[in-house]
Amino acid sequence: MNKFIFISGGVCSSLGKGVAASSLGALLEGRGLNVRMVKCDPYINVDAGTMNPYQHGEVYVTDDGAETDLDLGNYERFTSGRLSKANSVTTGQIYKSVIEKEREGRFLGRTIQVIPHITDEIKNRIMAVAKEDPDTDVVIVEIGGTVGDIESIPFLEAARQIIHEQERGNALSVHLTLIPEIAGLELKTKPTQHSVKAMQEQGIQPDVLICRAPVMLDEATIHKIASFTNVDFNAVFVSYDVKTTIYEMPLVFYEQKLDLVVLKKMGVESRHANLKNWRKMMEHLHARQGKVRIGIVGKYMELHDAYKSIYEALFHAGLACAVEIDLVKVDSAAFEENEAESTLGKNGASPVDGILIPGGFGGRGTNGMIKAAAWARQNNVPYFGICLGMQIMVIEWARNILKWEDADSTEFTENTKHPVISLLEEQIDVTNLGGTMRLGRSESIPHEGSKIFTAYKEKNIWERHRHRYEFANKYRAEMTNSGLIIGATTADGALVESVEWPDHPWGVGVQFHPEFKSKPTAAHPLFCAFIAAVKEKILSS
Ligand code: GLN
Repeated sequence: MNKFIFISGGVCSSLGKGVAASSLGALLEGRGLNVRMVKCDPYINVDAGTMNPYQHGEVYVTDDGAETDLDLGNYERFTSGRLSKANSVTTGQIYKSVIEKEREGRFLGRTIQVIPHITDEIKNRIMAVAKEDPDTDVVIVEIGGTVGDIESIPFLEAARQIIHEQERGNALSVHLTLIPEIAGLELKTKPTQHSVKAMQEQGIQPDVLICRAPVMLDEATIHKIASFTNVDFNAVFVSYDVKTTIYEMPLVFYEQKLDLVVLKKMGVESRHANLKNWRKMMEHLHARQGKVRIGIVGKYMELHDAYKSIYEALFHAGLACAVEIDLVKVDSAAFEENEAESTLGKNGASPVDGILIPGGFGGRGTNGMIKAAAWARQNNVPYFGICLGMQIMVIEWARNILKWEDADSTEFTENTKHPVISLLEEQIDVTNLGGTMRLGRSESIPHEGSKIFTAYKEKNIWERHRHRYEFANKYRAEMTNSGLIIGATTADGALVESVEWPDHPWGVGVQFHPEFKSKPTAAHPLFCAFIAAVKEKILSS
């Protein structure tokens, strides 16, 4: 069975299209269907890898090393469908491949046009995901942007063609709109009516509407929306604001029978809904007691999306450890000037209970991060360093324990006498920035007796990478002789994948990105171990 569901959005951006698409994916999985998710991004960048986190939020990395939009992170947190390079389609990729084919002479002299050449390329990509795995039942395609944007037109046109070419019920359009509230008094349906008209102008009649609204809508309003938009009354759903978490959305939509209506429209027999995991997750949410305060010391603090997967993974670990997580966001650049004590807290009565230093690029703010790491090490505060956060641990150790004051990464100081973090060998001749880092899933071996081994309880682990620099092997002996613990390496022992502080409750850095694999229904073992150590520390002090 290959069915297609196109999710588009109207009125404005940030309506939660990704969460709606993911929630629908979760519900269909709950009904026993195999779901694959695809994101179409109208921007001209080939991928999100070279985009500034301030502009675009975090770069999400898949197993096969695609650097994608953060919506793919939502897909992976909500569903179990495999994600790879094929699941992230951008205008840049589409044009690149069409132009390459044209240069190779594959169009035999024809004029290359948006329709059919660009739209065909989009359709082929979507079809390739559907065909990749014979067990795939449904492909959910989220079209980025808002209907009416110039950039989205080729994607909507490709969707229109697929809907038109498929047998009735094999391809659906789900459209998301906003129902704004004027002066806190009146809910307005007009923008939704206009948004559906804009879809109809593109030749697509939405089969299902999801209306983002501050509260559940009453029947009369839903009737009004249905009659103005030609959408069935029972196919208008409300994505109202929830007070708890976005992970409640699958259950919110289930209560409104979104999955049943979609199955019926697709002509799929109704099956038993298994939402045990999601219900259990909600039980965990309500069972949390107390709060822990985690200081995140990074340089993109103003924009929540810049560290999205890290914040989500901490939340998941909070569910698993029955504790609420309070994020204390510390701007590492500003922190360079401040005393650690005044920002992070004095011994004992600290305003943060744990420190997490996330990944990052460039030297700005790294001295603030080093200061935070030193403070956590000296004050026995649990510390979790991710990618750059691990490299910071190594630099801090070299500067403060080995007394190499100039120790640094060559990323920040090219000519330091002590380049304790240096370029990966394979990176030396790389000149192009896009897609050229050590990217994607690879194997690491946790060393027995290490904290990382205790956390995973596994002899080999597979995690995703995204970096150019690494622990410099020529300093391994001096680092370990002075006490720094190497917690994990690659299988051949060539690259250091994790370091730990000795005689410390929990100070662990990893060169990879565990946050990408954490789910609300299955928190990541390293995040759980970190939060467990934070809880333990609070109880014992
Ligand atoms: N900038 C560092 C490197 O390239 C760390 C990368 C990261 O934190 N993702 O190695």
